[in-house]
Amino acid sequence: MPLRSDRTVSELRELKELTGDDNGAQRVAWTDTWAQAREWLRGKLAGLPVEEDVDEAGNQWFTLRGASERALLIGGHIDSVPNGGWLDGSLNVLAGVEVLRRIAEEGEPSLTVRLVNWADEEGARFGRSLFGSSAACGSMRDQDELRQLRDRDGIALPDALAAHGVDLDRATEAQSRLENAAAYLELHIEQGPVLESLDLPLGAVLGTFGVERHRITWTGQAAHAGSTPMDKRRDALAGAAKLALDIRRIAAETGGGAVCTSGNVVCRPGIVTSVVETAEQLLDQRHLDAASLAGMLAEAKAAADRFAAEEDIEVAWERIWSIEPILFDDRLIDLADEAITEVAGASHRLPSGPLHDAAEVARAGIPTVMLFVQSLRGLSHTNLEDTKPEHLELSVQALDRLAAKALEQLGA
Ligand SMILES: [Zn+2]
Repeated sequence: MPLRSDRTVSELRELKELTGDDNGAQRVAWTDTWAQAREWLRGKLAGLPVEEDVDEAGNQWFTLRGASERALLIGGHIDSVPNGGWLDGSLNVLAGVEVLRRIAEEGEPSLTVRLVNWADEEGARFGRSLFGSSAACGSMRDQDELRQLRDRDGIALPDALAAHGVDLDRATEAQSRLENAAAYLELHIEQGPVLESLDLPLGAVLGTFGVERHRITWTGQAAHAGSTPMDKRRDALAGAAKLALDIRRIAAETGGGAVCTSGNVVCRPGIVTSVVETAEQLLDQRHLDAASLAGMLAEAKAAADRFAAEEDIEVAWERIWSIEPILFDDRLIDLADEAITEVAGASHRLPSGPLHDAAEVARAGIPTVMLFVQSLRGLSHTNLEDTKPEHLELSVQALDRLAAKALEQLGA
């Protein structure tokens, strides 16, 4: 039986009907709807010679035994954000199902092939993304913080996990599942506008951006809006405003896909009749190259010092969060490019702005690559998320080609 990429599209629609409503997908991890989606997935694979098991972190594995214990992994996540799109995560899983069917049909593969449905990629309920993949990939070091997390209804994360058979204290034992991993492949919707703007269905992903997130506090002096002459003001907002514009220059001069965002500024006292005394500004900077990212941060700090001097105000920086760029495997990127070119006629290499489970796997030292398929209008995490059916089909075909090429190379 040849690959039937049209079946993936109809199964995606089936899942949407089963686990979504008028507002979108409702497969939030550690909920009944999510469990229902996992049960449905199990049913889709029931006719194949695959073994299912759920690891200590709640990740759902489907294993097709090959001649060798070494394994080619294909992954995705069936969980969604509330009112989410129909493709984010579930395309990856269902495309993997179709690839598994094609490989199983051809008899015993040279390598073991394993499909993994990662648990709680989105972190929608407790605010902790990449739960299952970070546990399995050895980067979960925040169990103490996780124990304290509660959802909006006050339910603690460990209790929500326990309701689905997962013991937080044992979650990192899932690492044993990666012992024989030879390579990891993940297809995902782009969730951005790049491929659509290039009029290309598919791209090979180079890696995920490194991120620097900072809180910048500007301090001036509150003063009466009527009685304080313009040249006597120490206006904290002026520093934030100058920096919010200057990060555009910094990103442009850095190039290579650099992005900088000032996502919020909170002013105090925050009234119409006073000069701003404190402005708390949020900054997010991203780049695929670690040195470029460090350079952008240094430039932003230098610019902030300059603006503080110009405005006679003070500036202080606090790092909220950061992660280094995570680069995918060069050989697999080449294979992905080949596979895409064969099915779609042209390929494009691009970085990923969002983090994905694939980043956790790559960080664990397993050769990894991702394929992106075009997202219409670049929208995701909304009911408006969409991709043309013909592009969805091409993406399944490209993942299948890539899996075949990877098996050939790894088996040799
Ligand atoms: Zn996703």
